[in-house]
Amino acid sequence: MPMETTPRRAIIIGASYAGLVAAAGLKCHGWQVRIVEKSYERSRSGGGVVVQRRMLEYLENHGVGFPGVASIPARTRQIYRPDGAVLRMPETAAAYTSWDVLLQELETVVGPEWIERGVAMTDIPDWGALGTVEFTDGTTDTADVVIAADGIGSLSRRLLLPGISPEYAGYVAWRGMIDESDLTSATVDAFCDTLSSFQGERTTILLYEVPGEDGSLEKGRRRINWVWYENMPAGPRLSALMTDSAGYEHRTTVARNKLTPVTRSYMEKLAAEELSAPFAEVVLQTPEPFLQKIEDLTIPRLVFGRVVLIGDAASLVRPHIGSGTAKAVDDAIHLATALSEPCDEDLSCLAAWEHTRLNDHYGLADYAKAIARRLKLGTDAAG
Ligand SMILES: Cc1cc2nc3c(=O)[nH]c(=O)nc-3n(C[C@H](O)[C@H](O)[C@H](O)COP(=O)(O)OP(=O)(O)OC[C@H]3O[C@@H](n4cnc5c(N)ncnc54)[C@H](O)[C@@H]3O)c2cc1C
Repeated sequence: MPMETTPRRAIIIGASYAGLVAAAGLKCHGWQVRIVEKSYERSRSGGGVVVQRRMLEYLENHGVGFPGVASIPARTRQIYRPDGAVLRMPETAAAYTSWDVLLQELETVVGPEWIERGVAMTDIPDWGALGTVEFTDGTTDTADVVIAADGIGSLSRRLLLPGISPEYAGYVAWRGMIDESDLTSATVDAFCDTLSSFQGERTTILLYEVPGEDGSLEKGRRRINWVWYENMPAGPRLSALMTDSAGYEHRTTVARNKLTPVTRSYMEKLAAEELSAPFAEVVLQTPEPFLQKIEDLTIPRLVFGRVVLIGDAASLVRPHIGSGTAKAVDDAIHLATALSEPCDEDLSCLAAWEHTRLNDHYGLADYAKAIARRLKLGTDAAG
């Protein structure tokens, strides 16, 4: 008679990209997972995102049905030049979807009933040695592994590596998403099925189509996602832009409906001065743009006793190589694979995973910085 074994158990902190992919991966290997998420609602803060084929293949190969992500492939790359010329070349790289559509589908894969919303981790006692975490309501829980997927402002990282925090890279990203129905048909036609960019005197903008909020893929009912980088030294002007309409200065992101009228007019003036016509129309017509600082972060360790950091909690890569989410997916699915092996009390099965992932994090961070320098973005591009 086969021996019954108790399923191993993981607590996952954060139900966003990294946490949900890790949960789906571990469930493939028979783990029990408890996912805690401090927000009561699914985040709507993101924009467009590349669909990660690796994630779809991994889940499919492990027997997890994925309902199929609504996405739009960019068939052509277009580079608009300041003299009005447009260079066109075939683009084979990626299909794009939106943050909201993808998170919803990931939740379906994992099972929304597994996500405990409104529960925040507040402490990791004993530097993670016991796999115990504390929550807002004062309760504690212990598991074989705790996966900290709590994002850019990660409390886990701050508790385990006090003194290490993200560093401002010297530029910001204005971002937004607009329904195609709010644009002229000439602009919708210009950007149909493309990844398009324009480099102005002081800024660089990139845009592509993503499904409509209802998942619609039909031309005219999709949305256009844009991200527009501007060099901005740290100082009073940056502080003023990062301060929202209620007077609160944000560390990383001023969300969609929070830009002050002054910030909004600054952005609109910049768009009118810098951008060629179709890009300016997209930016100026976007109802709720938002603003993000670009930051750098790499850390020396990912495993702390029974606690493992993944995704943005573990490192940040500048967005130019579409790798924030790719890195989160790789962290999560390789972690699930590593944890599928029998492992001793010290989790030594994670040593190879940590080594490989750290190499990847450092490599990606360096590559993305090199691209930023080529685009003349950031403090290290000066001179
Ligand atoms: C505002 C914003 C918008 C972004 N938009 C895009 C985009 O459009 N496309 C793209 O490719 N990348 C985007 N990124 C980058 C992207 O978030 C990451 O690169 C990547 O997807 C990593 O996700 P993550 O799961 O590690 O972190 P996150 O997506 O930041 O998720 C962390 C989760 O942990 C939860 N959490 C935090 N602290 C606790 C706690 N103490 N207890 C419980 N839960 C907690 C948070 O509420 C959140 O749901 C965006 C980042 C930000 C900050």
